[in-house]
Amino acid sequence: MSPSALPTTSRAAVITEFGADLEVRDLPVPELEPGALLVRVDAATVCGSDVHVWDGSLHAGGIRPINLPVVAGHEMAGTVVGIGAGDLSYTGGGAVRSGDRITFTQGRCGTCHHCAVTLQPNLCTSRRSYGENCEAFPYLVGGFSEYCYVYPSARKIKIPDGVRSEWASAASCALRTVIAAYERVGRIEPWQTVVVQGTGPLGLFATALAKKSGAGRVIAVGAPDDRLELARAWGATDTLSVADLPTPDARIGAVADLTGGVGAEVVMEWSGARTAFAEGLEMVRRGGRYLVGGQVGPHTVEIQPSTIMKKGIDVIGSMSGADAHYFKAMDFLQRNQDEFDFDAILTNRYGLHEVGAALRGMQNLSEMKPIVDPWLA
Ligand SMILES: [Zn+2]
Ligand SMILES: [Zn+2]
Repeated sequence: MSPSALPTTSRAAVITEFGADLEVRDLPVPELEPGALLVRVDAATVCGSDVHVWDGSLHAGGIRPINLPVVAGHEMAGTVVGIGAGDLSYTGGGAVRSGDRITFTQGRCGTCHHCAVTLQPNLCTSRRSYGENCEAFPYLVGGFSEYCYVYPSARKIKIPDGVRSEWASAASCALRTVIAAYERVGRIEPWQTVVVQGTGPLGLFATALAKKSGAGRVIAVGAPDDRLELARAWGATDTLSVADLPTPDARIGAVADLTGGVGAEVVMEWSGARTAFAEGLEMVRRGGRYLVGGQVGPHTVEIQPSTIMKKGIDVIGSMSGADAHYFKAMDFLQRNQDEFDFDAILTNRYGLHEVGAALRGMQNLSEMKPIVDPWLA
């Protein structure tokens, strides 16, 4: 599309009040700064943290100040329709061209300690996320919208042929987060056990990655039964139902039984559950590793720090991911689509007017990974 052919406005689902139905608004399509892109959103998906943005808990909990109104959604994949000045390249090489299907990172400052010294742009202190206020330039900074503005400092990743836009959307947050976490965890050996707490999209991707990483035993802990069944299809050698084993002690005991009393080499928290952290620490073997990846909410819990010291546990936090993790996520989808049915985590499809229903479905667990299709009538 030549600049003159770009749309002048875009419909977007906007959060105007925490917890209320969203408003579909016409937002201006901004001028593209050098390095920026405009994409037509082909598919967006709902992430657990979208619910926390919408219900106000991240804002009220002081975790992330949110300046309403904001365009909802931060998992999306789209087609390039407008390119700002300059020659743009993809992470992994190749020129950005109109008509390409892409996903993209958040914006970063590029010079702060985390961006430039430790090379962790996901921890940039001046990060530009999607879901910022939409009354100021560049307005279209969210996924639940016909068009989305891609920040000049965002890295752009081409979606490989054969990878559905809905998968790429889910991978742009959930899968890249899991891939980044596995890098933080380090090497896993064939005689080791990985416990995955949670059987939502994050837990299921983590289960698939555990299988591919070569872990000998993969224990998925979650509910309901259809998600446990999917966890088995995606590589769990064992599943523990939190419905059948309703207490932390019962689940800790089950992991001990499955590991000959040793505990797991790696336990990964992807459930977001209030009780998961203290429980997971008890499932780790002496000298093992505990990865915290799903604790987005504002709750606090009590733990006994001596558990970490006496067992010599490495406790590792991981949030989001950097350019390479998006690239690897796309690669993972392309390479492994015959082994894992990625469509199986996607649930119902909603238009922009129905985003509130999709978010409520996530909240009450009737939805696993709903799709938002901004072009649905
Ligand atoms: Zn997310
Ligand atoms: Zn920075």
